[in-house]
Amino acid sequence: MAKYVYDFTEGNKDLKDLLGGKGANLAEMTNLGLPVPPGFTITSEACRHYLAEGAVPDGLEREVAEHLTAMEKRMGKTLGQADDPLLVSVRSGAKFSMPGMMETVLNIGLNDESVHGLAKQAGGNDRFAWDSYRRLIQMFGKTVLDIDGELFEQALESLKGDRQDTDLGAAELQGLVETFKGIVRDQTGKDFPADPREQMRLAVMAVFDSWNAPRAILYRRQERIPADLGTAVNIVAMVFGNVGNDSGTGVAFTRDPGSGQQGIYGDYLQNAQGEDVVAGIRNTIPLQELERLDKSSYDELLRIMETLENHYRDLCDIEFTIERGKLWMLQTRVGKRTAAAAFCIATQLVDQGLITLDEAVTRVTGDQLAQLMFPRFDSGTEKKKIAKGMNASPGAAVGKVVFSSERAVELAGQGEDVILVRRETNPDDLSGMIAARGILTSRGGKTSHAAVVARGMGKTCVCGAEELEVSIGERRFTAPGDIVVNEGDLISIDGTTGEVFLGEVPVVDSAVVEYFEGREPDDDLVRAVDRIMRRADEVRRLGVRANADTPDDAARARRFGGEGIGLCRTEHMFLGERRQLVEDLVLASGDEERQAALDALEPLQKADFVGIFQAMEGQPVTVRLIDPPLHEFLPDLTDLSVKVATGDASDKDRKLLVAVKRLHEQNPMLGLRGVRLGLVIPGLFAMQVRAIAQAAKEVPGAKPEIMIPLVAAVQELEAVREEAAGILADLGVEALIGTMIETPRAALTAGQVAEAAQFFSFGTNDLTQMTWGFSRDDVEAAFFSRYLELGMFGVSPFETLDRDGVGRLVTIAVEEGRAARPDLKLGICGEHGGDPDSVHFCHQAGLDYVSCSPFRIPVARLEAGRAAFAECDSDTR
Ligand code: PEP
Ligand code: MG
Repeated sequence: MAKYVYDFTEGNKDLKDLLGGKGANLAEMTNLGLPVPPGFTITSEACRHYLAEGAVPDGLEREVAEHLTAMEKRMGKTLGQADDPLLVSVRSGAKFSMPGMMETVLNIGLNDESVHGLAKQAGGNDRFAWDSYRRLIQMFGKTVLDIDGELFEQALESLKGDRQDTDLGAAELQGLVETFKGIVRDQTGKDFPADPREQMRLAVMAVFDSWNAPRAILYRRQERIPADLGTAVNIVAMVFGNVGNDSGTGVAFTRDPGSGQQGIYGDYLQNAQGEDVVAGIRNTIPLQELERLDKSSYDELLRIMETLENHYRDLCDIEFTIERGKLWMLQTRVGKRTAAAAFCIATQLVDQGLITLDEAVTRVTGDQLAQLMFPRFDSGTEKKKIAKGMNASPGAAVGKVVFSSERAVELAGQGEDVILVRRETNPDDLSGMIAARGILTSRGGKTSHAAVVARGMGKTCVCGAEELEVSIGERRFTAPGDIVVNEGDLISIDGTTGEVFLGEVPVVDSAVVEYFEGREPDDDLVRAVDRIMRRADEVRRLGVRANADTPDDAARARRFGGEGIGLCRTEHMFLGERRQLVEDLVLASGDEERQAALDALEPLQKADFVGIFQAMEGQPVTVRLIDPPLHEFLPDLTDLSVKVATGDASDKDRKLLVAVKRLHEQNPMLGLRGVRLGLVIPGLFAMQVRAIAQAAKEVPGAKPEIMIPLVAAVQELEAVREEAAGILADLGVEALIGTMIETPRAALTAGQVAEAAQFFSFGTNDLTQMTWGFSRDDVEAAFFSRYLELGMFGVSPFETLDRDGVGRLVTIAVEEGRAARPDLKLGICGEHGGDPDSVHFCHQAGLDYVSCSPFRIPVARLEAGRAAFAECDSDTR
């Protein structure tokens, strides 16, 4: 038969799924012999049943009654007993901490009789008893009976006037109880329930219900906590911090959650109950001062904190209450901490012999490392926020606003910091993006051009700040509140939060990036990062490569620990002055003219590859043949049409207009691009393959791999592969030839595709686009925020690989590809290659490597190391 209730003596810290974090840890502390008030936990399974069926499961009430009776026996008094009452608190506690999101009711068991018994227990302290009673009605009224809490607050405030809550006398509080009971009667049409067991029963259901309170739902979405876990409920014998000045309540950390330093960190409030500390009702005092007030409780608390740290082998936070000089532990858990503290604490615990270095690797996350790698705005300064967009590429950037790439390059050349502001960027903005400190766009999502390129460069970017009206022509933008920002004005953008500020906000640099760039570790944090990264590299099975297509990026990738290039996109090599040659290629009227255009491009391409092969010094370089539709390299249709209409057009412009119209597509991402270009335009891929091979011959040790994009059928790959293999053989160059897997069909026919491919690299940007049918350029800005609100998914599938859909295709392709060709090399080069959860998926799916932008390499190395420990997921909650 199902068991829905566990006494604190029956549980332990590993039962969080069932007992929630609070219940499991109260049980653990009980079993450690620490002073925990008696109590029991109703499981989250009971809550799930209640939420699904609208009624508590059979047997729950009986089990609760049995546990209550046992508790009453142990305490020698019954719940709400008139002359000597047992009182309990009913506290929520889910598997993952959701601070303040769900309900708790204290002092259950008080009524017009037992309030006198409570006064007697407290040595005739009437004031305390009536204060506890009014708290019960207030909390119960608000959380269980759904009465507007303001009504109680107002009644309390008007009684208090200018006084503190502790100044209210017994008679006044007794009057307040009557007022509160009146509020309950007015608002619900019923009396406040006097029966203690009924109070408890209703409170338990209210805690269950609070799992689905709007703020709890919102919090779960933000924190990516599954919606179907439910909460456990803890019923704990009350201890009182509000009996007098020899009582009180407090919170503490076993070490500083901001820096990781060992010491005593906490706050204490004399003569108060738990919620007073959080509510900020009076000023707390530093925990150290407790030593002066109550030395014996203070010493005991320090001993307990040490016991807990040694037992949990981690930073713990705790809540405690002192009742007339007796210390009680009300809660503990492994405490939240900043990113820097996480690294420092993990290595300190290794040095203390409490955990191994392997465990230290599992105690930190790639997200925490990423946070440490970006410059930050100084948190202590005032800022004027003017807009909020998407946090496309983290970091903090300050500079003068410019509206064109040319101006960005010009001002940066004069040593100015600039922020490039555009409605959206396109490949022509590359030079401006490189020159700028940060990029701000008013349109586009997290996979828009600006976002992808900025992340690749590790450059701060806020995109899709739709409140901004950008006027490139007038060289200014406006923000809500009639704010006008002109070219040259200073702004600050926060790519970690998506915020845009007017003026200059001071920025602090990242010492962790300087370390990855080669600086010797010279402070505690960097030394901690160094130790953990070294161990992660030793244990990881996944290789980590870079998406890089310039020698500079390639060099940075190596400094950051990349082990090759997994994706060298070749399209930027067709931009700038070389556009001319692409135009010649498109306009060529016959084989000869086309070949002439290709011949002109070949040496330029070759020089590009030479630079990259040199930078990689013998590490593998996967070069992807040209992928985007050709119209992206040609002038804009509207611009050309205007030129022709106004008579400003040259002969070439007129021909280009015809060509651009011919190449125009309704859905260019599903049109003539990738392998299709190679098959339709004779000589294009051959030119690239020759350039790669010639470059490889020139750079000793170069290890090229040739990758074909957007393949959907093995026939496409076979045709291209055959031509490429012929060229390589003619030139005497060895190179693997493989394909991207970025169409669902390629994944589903991977067994066939593998016959013609020596490696697969999953292009999960396109694979996600085509699996979901989401245009990667549009949907994030268009409606993803609504989708996230609606809970359609917890995170964009363009950010974290969708395991159920896209992941399933990857798994099929891995299995069938390897079955057909056991030595098939497998990697991923979509944006997911640098995302922590997706790296874990890649490890589990059996890939050989992940490839990501150079700045994400340390994150991928760390997560690949963490993934090697089976029990570790990308999250440390
Ligand atoms: C992909 O589709 O995942 C990929 C890496 O290619 P691109 O982003 O260049 O289309
Ligand atoms: Mg792609």
